[in-house]
Amino acid sequence: MEPEQTLHMARALVLADLSAGDVARADVVSLVEDAVAHRLWWVEQWPEGSEFVAGLLAQDVQDALLERYGRCPVCVGDLHALEVEPELGADPHWVCAKTTVAVARVGALGSVGSGGGGRGPTRDREAEDEH
Ligand SMILES: [Zn+2]
Repeated sequence: MEPEQTLHMARALVLADLSAGDVARADVVSLVEDAVAHRLWWVEQWPEGSEFVAGLLAQDVQDALLERYGRCPVCVGDLHALEVEPELGADPHWVCAKTTVAVARVGALGSVGSGGGGRGPTRDREAEDEH
């Protein structure tokens, strides 16, 4: 896959998660664009790392948001921090930092819903059909 395509897909996933958290405002989107530009450069240097880009971009944006807006996203229902696992790997998921339960794939936070409660330790598998 071309670096531009890789970043385009990763960007779409990150923006989907931001939309799910209702933080996809213009200033946040410009922050995403900065991260995308950096990772485009990065994947051009290291094409083998392209499958890691979605997870890395999600972490880049999370770090940038932490400086300006606080931790985001957080666990639905219990407000723990969510972390990307694996940090450097394919098929990244958002994992609750406290319970280590995978909440959703990166890009699929919106499918978790915002009701909270009653959610078991299920792993989101639905989004995997598209590839
Ligand atoms: Zn949690």
